[in-house]
Amino acid sequence: MSNYLRQVIEGKLPLNEDILREVKKASDTLKLVEMKCGKTKDIAHVDITLSTLLSGLTEMGAEFSQLLHRVNQIASERAMSLMSSRSDRDSPLGRQMYRWRLLPFLRPYHFYSRAYHASGGLFNGPLKTPSSFKELNDHIMDPASTSRSKKTTVRLFDDLSNEICKAADMVECVRQMHNNEYFREAAEESSRDFCQLIEGLNTYTELYNRLKGSKEKESGKLDDLDKRTIDLFIDDFKQSGVHLPPEQREEFVRLSSEIFDAGARYQWQCDVPVEIGRTDKYRFSLPSTRLTSPVSYSSQQEKRSFIHSTFYKSNPGQESELIRLVTSRHDLARLTGFESFAHRAQHNSVLGTYDNVKEFLHLLIEKCQPAVNREVAILYDIQSQCAMGQSKVLECDLPYLIDLYKTRAYGESLRLGRIGRFITVDSLIRGFVKLANRLYDVNLVERNIENGETWNSMMVKLEALDPNNNSLGFIYLDVEKRQSKAVGDCHFTVRCSKELDNQEWQTPIIVVSLALCDESQKNWRKSPVHVHAAENFFHEMGHAMHSILGRTRYQHIAGTRCPQDFSEIPSNLMEFFFNDIQVFRSLLRGENDEEIPIDEAASHLSARSAFSAIEVVQQAAYSLFDLELHGPEAPELLRQGKLTTGQLFHSMLSTSLPQITRSPNTAFQHRFHHLVQYGARYYSYLVARAGASLIWSSQFREDPFNRDAGMKWAKIQSYGGGLAPLILLENILGFRPTADNLTSAISDQSIHTSNLDAINI
Ligand SMILES: [Zn+2]
Repeated sequence: MSNYLRQVIEGKLPLNEDILREVKKASDTLKLVEMKCGKTKDIAHVDITLSTLLSGLTEMGAEFSQLLHRVNQIASERAMSLMSSRSDRDSPLGRQMYRWRLLPFLRPYHFYSRAYHASGGLFNGPLKTPSSFKELNDHIMDPASTSRSKKTTVRLFDDLSNEICKAADMVECVRQMHNNEYFREAAEESSRDFCQLIEGLNTYTELYNRLKGSKEKESGKLDDLDKRTIDLFIDDFKQSGVHLPPEQREEFVRLSSEIFDAGARYQWQCDVPVEIGRTDKYRFSLPSTRLTSPVSYSSQQEKRSFIHSTFYKSNPGQESELIRLVTSRHDLARLTGFESFAHRAQHNSVLGTYDNVKEFLHLLIEKCQPAVNREVAILYDIQSQCAMGQSKVLECDLPYLIDLYKTRAYGESLRLGRIGRFITVDSLIRGFVKLANRLYDVNLVERNIENGETWNSMMVKLEALDPNNNSLGFIYLDVEKRQSKAVGDCHFTVRCSKELDNQEWQTPIIVVSLALCDESQKNWRKSPVHVHAAENFFHEMGHAMHSILGRTRYQHIAGTRCPQDFSEIPSNLMEFFFNDIQVFRSLLRGENDEEIPIDEAASHLSARSAFSAIEVVQQAAYSLFDLELHGPEAPELLRQGKLTTGQLFHSMLSTSLPQITRSPNTAFQHRFHHLVQYGARYYSYLVARAGASLIWSSQFREDPFNRDAGMKWAKIQSYGGGLAPLILLENILGFRPTADNLTSAISDQSIHTSNLDAINI
């Protein structure tokens, strides 16, 4: 089969549909072989067999990708000769370029893709692709086919995107999460092939033009949702510069690779440890000459200060990469008609414009000042008790003083042992099942995991059922802490919900990755889980339910596939539920349904929220730095050497948080890797938090288990990215929230949580 495909690619044999069909049938048999192996008892043997099969399949996948490229090329050449215009399908961009920008056929969620090792067999998607691609190509090549075909172009696009995503996302999940390194390596290899395939599709001008044209040509068949989805696809295409005239496109491509290269180089250096001399090691009794973190809980202020300032020492290499990143982004934004990159980045977001974001952040900082002052007063008091005559709180003192406060104020009850019997993997699952049932009338039922269905881990599988017992999808929870997981707590939407041709729904499959238990815990489902990790569980399950509740015609807009400031709202809302004492005590119960004593629950929850105003303002200042760094003025000043990133950062921090003394020479901004992924959108989490807070206080705070409010919120979530985020918020709140409403939602809460009692050290 491989030989045949190779010859087709080399043009030695003609493309024959019948043979292709046979190839597909044969490769489907390969999946059966794999399933059979999965049932064998000998695990080691199975792993080796599967690895061998997987690498065989990887090769097959690569062959198909190349074949697709060839089909793509033939179609393109034909189109070009018909239109006698220049072909600009071939992109000089390196494939690495698309590791973070698999658009529009793959949109990375957070900075990870969504994926899962589906039990239906590996490489299910790409082996189906040739036929769907052919259909799409025919459609493009023959404009008259639009009137004959029942399917609109956007539907065909989504079908193709669906096939590719199902396969590529699964590969990505295996790459990030599988506990067998052979699988991870094989997935790494095949993900490179997918990148190539996707790169070809994203820079294929004909596809773009055809989709764009379909909005008018097929307008009689399109409703608002179709049109919105077309626009979203087009926006994503534009990320590849496919819409620009040739010379501009060349510049676009050059800038894109500058951005990618500078971003990657900057990021590599963000977490590097700092080497210190032996003298300093002995002077501060440090365990090694290597500093890996800026935080010290030492009672010696001199030591804390040394560690903080050494770790955040300014780095000239990082400065120049950061400037290269920011100025290239600025040029790219100007090239595409925007005033700045920060203006360009707000497209489709809740706040919508650069000015709105700026207003939001300034207002937030201003409104939180009273709460910050109260919190800082407590810290000043502790500081003066610790060190006589010390009248300042330095940036490096914050973690130490806050930790000291929490230990003294809530210490006894914070010990894990006491609350541990109430918070375990089992009690968390039981609690969340109860919540989903009471709010959304959705039953989450635990299912057995078949041999070979997942990798061997601490895994729980839940099926979501509606009141009529129809399946709504599956959630797999991998709760094991392990080195081989490449990512932190997160979720992967392997398969999105989507309306199929037969009017049935493709149901979602979600994998949630958490670090709740480690290998040593034999009885892991009953082992205590830390409160912070438990809150993360609720956060990630909020994302999972967003996907489960999704009911969209297209997978491109399903569930969490919406702008990030909205997609983080359902997960943040779950944190509000978790932190409500009534909900906390009613959901998290001991083995025999016993309740957490009220004072213990209160201590834990108060400790979680203590000093949150300082944290909010710090985050807002970082966001403002990220915004202005990409704003209309800074890039030019940086380029001309009239400004340094350190000066900009220091001015943002010292004006937002004047109560805390900081040194202008430390360079946090040289280690702020979110600048690469978020670029002028780091503030999104604050907007999501504010949105969730408004929903919580208007719909649930008085009556957290209110079914009507729950069903209303479920309906809103079902739209995914099918409606603009602001409209969704308006639908649930009854009004369109302004920057003023959003900031008050956070500051009102911080006034409440900053009400802390003084302590004696
Ligand atoms: Zn999240």
